[in-house]
Amino acid sequence: TALANDKVWHMHEAAEQDLLEQQVSLMGELANAIENHQLEVQYQPKLDLKTNRITSVEALVRWHHPTRGYLSPDSFIPLAEKSDHIADMTLFVLQRTLRDLSQWHAAGTEVKAAVNISARLLTSQVFFEAVRAALAESETSASHLIFEVTESATMADPSAALRALEGYRQMGITISLDDYGTGQSTLTYLKTLPIGELKIDRSFVENAHEDSSDALLVRSTVHLAHALGLQVVAEGIETKECLDFLREVGCDLAQGYHVSRPLPAPDLLALCQRYTGV
Ligand code: C2E
Ligand code: CA
Ligand code: CA
Ligand code: CA
Repeated sequence: TALANDKVWHMHEAAEQDLLEQQVSLMGELANAIENHQLEVQYQPKLDLKTNRITSVEALVRWHHPTRGYLSPDSFIPLAEKSDHIADMTLFVLQRTLRDLSQWHAAGTEVKAAVNISARLLTSQVFFEAVRAALAESETSASHLIFEVTESATMADPSAALRALEGYRQMGITISLDDYGTGQSTLTYLKTLPIGELKIDRSFVENAHEDSSDALLVRSTVHLAHALGLQVVAEGIETKECLDFLREVGCDLAQGYHVSRPLPAPDLLALCQRYTGV
């Protein structure tokens, strides 16, 4: 009835209001999270399928909230992206990553590390200069740094994205096209981007060993990437079957729980040093 519908509607409104208030307060807290040492960076290895060595890692941010406990990046990054907090958070991740890279290198482990760059930051001139400054202060060379940029981030403003990527490439940073397959980029557009790596999204990889259309997409992406001179990474590898399939189709690198979960920096170093492959 109309009355019952009205009640449901008000409950719905109240729930939305709650969510909004929660998000506003979380956003305010994020501003202090860095200073209060609540953010941590963990690293997930990318396994080189030809040599069976860990050649690079992806930096993934973690928020240990004092009252809400562990928060997944999916719950606060979209919020951070709506404000300037994304710039501070990403700079924190970048600086931490550069510092950890120099420690791993000092310990004799020659890995590279990737940092995720949101669409909004990609074309920011202020952020660009901050990256240059961070690299200048660091002992780590830009050649050890990878920026993961999603396919959709480059599509928002293709010509601005292209200019920014070209600038980072000139700085010596490798660009990796993240979540590949979920956007709408054409082959012609892909050819114009100054990228060195293509990351196939987990949604295509997870069933590729048993789903023929996903298998086709993965196979053809590997061929396409190699034809363009790019390395291919498959993300979200959870099983041996999946890993075997990727080896068989000639994929270069694999990332996922079957290789390793994201790890704190010291654990990552230990894993690299004793790694014998899966
Ligand atoms: P992403 O860039 O696609 O990162 C991969 C996500 O998949 C990570 O989730 C990782 O922990 C998870 N993952 C890795 N292997 C597996 C697997 O085998 N199975 C499954 N089911 N999941 C796997 P996480 O750490 O929760 O991050 C989620 C997203 O948050 C990331 O997706 C990325 O878009 C964003 N993110 C994380 N850290 C940062 C950051 O520092 N900056 C920005 N801008 N975004 C970040
Ligand atoms: Ca990523
Ligand atoms: Ca990804
Ligand atoms: Ca993904």
